[in-house]
Amino acid sequence: MKTCKSCKKAKPESEFYRSRRTADRLQGVCKVCWRARDAEWKRVHHAQCLEHYRKYRRAHLADMRAKDRIYYRMRRLGIIEAKWREQFRREADALVAKLKKAGIALPIP
Ligand SMILES: [Zn+2]
Repeated sequence: MKTCKSCKKAKPESEFYRSRRTADRLQGVCKVCWRARDAEWKRVHHAQCLEHYRKYRRAHLADMRAKDRIYYRMRRLGIIEAKWREQFRREADALVAKLKKAGIALPIP
């Protein structure tokens, strides 16, 4: 059991997210409080979050589109089973990186 710093309730360790920074490797606040804080932070910093996402999107648009196209084609061919999706994502990532390294233009309209 561990006491949440925010709501002061004693809860089992499973009710706390992991942390690399604390001695017991768990967050100081419970999952419920953490999510509430996170939602509040996003509400307050909404514009900042949006800007961050837009910047990320702009920087990674080519990759995102290339992956989506590959993924879409494979799904249309019925190749993608749920259990293969995660593996496919990794392979698509590697493929995009390889193409980029080789200086090959990505299949973008
Ligand atoms: Zn709490």
